[in-house]
Amino acid sequence: MSTTSDQSGERFLPLSEPCLQGNEWQYVKECLDSGWISSVGAFVNRFEQRVAEYVGVKHAVATVNGTSALHAAMLTAGVEPGDEVLVSTLTFIATVNAIRYAGAHPVLIDSEPRYWQMDPQLVRDFLRRECRAESGELRNRVTGRRVRAIMPVHVLGHPVDLPAITAEAEAFGLRLIEDAAESLGASLHWKKIGATSDLACVSFNGNKTITCGGGGMILTNSQSDADRARYLTTQAKDDAIEYIHNEVGYNYRMTNVLAAIGLAQLEQLDGFVQRRREIAAYYRSGLCGTGLMWHTDAPGASSTSWLSTALVDPVQAGVTACELRDQLQRSKIQTRRLWQPMHLSPAHQSAQAVLNGTADRLFEQALSFPSTPNLTDGDLERVVQATGGVLRTRVRRAA
Ligand SMILES: *Cc1c(COP(=O)(O)O)cnc(C)c1O
Repeated sequence: MSTTSDQSGERFLPLSEPCLQGNEWQYVKECLDSGWISSVGAFVNRFEQRVAEYVGVKHAVATVNGTSALHAAMLTAGVEPGDEVLVSTLTFIATVNAIRYAGAHPVLIDSEPRYWQMDPQLVRDFLRRECRAESGELRNRVTGRRVRAIMPVHVLGHPVDLPAITAEAEAFGLRLIEDAAESLGASLHWKKIGATSDLACVSFNGNKTITCGGGGMILTNSQSDADRARYLTTQAKDDAIEYIHNEVGYNYRMTNVLAAIGLAQLEQLDGFVQRRREIAAYYRSGLCGTGLMWHTDAPGASSTSWLSTALVDPVQAGVTACELRDQLQRSKIQTRRLWQPMHLSPAHQSAQAVLNGTADRLFEQALSFPSTPNLTDGDLERVVQATGGVLRTRVRRAA
């Protein structure tokens, strides 16, 4: 029975929560004292500059959230209504929604089974077998639509196989836009994620590696893409004095108050990522041989370990992911399954999908464990004991 935790009044262990022990108060106070609280101000500029420096890109454009960054990145990349964009089927729905906001159609690509990221082989097969070149453009043979871009997601903060996907994008003249919402602080072959493709988008939502409460950013090395993204996210204002707008733009700019929080968070990013990685390692060693298979880093990859996640093999573990989640909830330990893959989502079900069964299996078996950086080793041991208890009990009963 897991009622002991309730009786002892143990605290709730959350999946991922903001940690605000840095300069957040001081910087927000500076905004309030100066009166610069709205959508321009020194903190917005500083935050953009510091994130760009951290990742190693030339330009950064702050936005109100990660979803608006993805939408603006689609438009900046030249994705037009009726185009198609290859995207991971295993993702939070915002990625695929952004394609639809641009009037384009997603082609959903499954994950490779080892690291759970967009499978380069499926991308290759789709582009080579399902598409044809026609007057300098790539067209889907079935739909006849133009294929314009690839948008991989670094799922759970683990890097996608970018060299392989970049090679495909280059071979077919496609734009490459990374959904790096969960991967600020990750790297691949010593390069920070977000530094190498046409455009990359990050999120500063409350549960991400760093947060402003809500916020996002578009990263790019291209001056023209940066100018275009800034223009589209500030109402497409062509003349700030006469209020002349030559296009339909968006009010997607981040406010100075939120940038102040973000800057303070950025100062702590490396420590947060290090702690998330320690948490993942703790679970891996504490719960090995129990029927849980933990997500690990590919060679040359360093994940943010945004959410420590394991596959729960019901035969070996004696419980399903759902059963384990419900048991742990009683011990005040929050866990969560991965997202319903987009090819199963009622919102995007009608999209063409290139599948190999991996996302389906992950949806069924994956469970994410408490990963907030300020969890103590004592908290982690509580998770290990509670989880081990559930698994061992079931195994004994089955024997
Ligand atoms: C969080 C997240 C987003 C959306 O970011 P918001 O800031 O919440 O709008 C997009 N894609 C992925 C993969 C995410 O995890």
